[in-house]
Amino acid sequence: MGQYGVIEGGGTKFVLGIADAAGTISARHRIATTTPDEVLSAAIEWFRAQDLQPAAIGIASFGPLDLDRASPSWGHVTRTTKPHWNGADLAGPFIRAFDCPVGVETDVNGAALAESRWGAGKEHNSLLYLTVGTGIGGGFVSGGRLLAGLSHPEMGHIRVPRHRDDLGFAGVCSFHGDCLEGLASGPAIIARWGDSLSKLAQGEGESEAGAGAGIVAWYLGQAVCNFQAILEPARIVLGGGVMSTPGLLDKVRHYAREAGGGYFVGDPEQVVVAPGLDSDSGLLGALAVALATESA
Ligand code: ZN
Repeated sequence: MGQYGVIEGGGTKFVLGIADAAGTISARHRIATTTPDEVLSAAIEWFRAQDLQPAAIGIASFGPLDLDRASPSWGHVTRTTKPHWNGADLAGPFIRAFDCPVGVETDVNGAALAESRWGAGKEHNSLLYLTVGTGIGGGFVSGGRLLAGLSHPEMGHIRVPRHRDDLGFAGVCSFHGDCLEGLASGPAIIARWGDSLSKLAQGEGESEAGAGAGIVAWYLGQAVCNFQAILEPARIVLGGGVMSTPGLLDKVRHYAREAGGGYFVGDPEQVVVAPGLDSDSGLLGALAVALATESA
């Protein structure tokens, strides 16, 4: 069976793996995210040390990324404030080092593909993956293919109505203030209540945690309603650190159902789900990107 080099590019670490098409990961390696030169040459060195002769390489990375195959900067990081990484060429070094197809997607698109193929969406034709963590991002898969426009979707930056008990908060998005990410991401929660909702619930901030979870769930419920209206996904997977708050997923379902008014085919009670994949989801995302690239 062919082997694939898979790369999960994150803000603090890059995780590498060697995988087969069935999703078995046979080796793993971590590299701290320093500079592109250091990280990418260490990655190539590790793959070579494993004697990898890849059928394809898949990269699922933080973005934004240029994903237009016709663009001279395809596979590059764009518009990031992360030191050293603005304009970094993620794909080029692997194309030059290995004689195989190389695919690049955002980590969120990778997760959407992996959830669609092996996780919560494997019985379904369409799936939206939304991560709610340090940022909010989404990817949509229909018939095994990712939705793309001029660039990958930026679903975290949609506008949602304001919660009546939250009108004094300006939001933390540096571009839009009170877009969805500005209101419901991890940093937006810390800006209002001082800590993550899970930590508040364990400590002395129990009432803040309850009020905060209600407000955050309400915003995410409005977002789910918007995404149902635009895409009507068979499954909407809510992942990311904020979603590990106990009880939050049920609250989002409740508010999504209320906002949707029973209009959509999919009932949020069934449609809105937790991820089906566990800790390997990042590498499986990169594998799904490699497989999609190989068959393209
Ligand atoms: Zn925004």
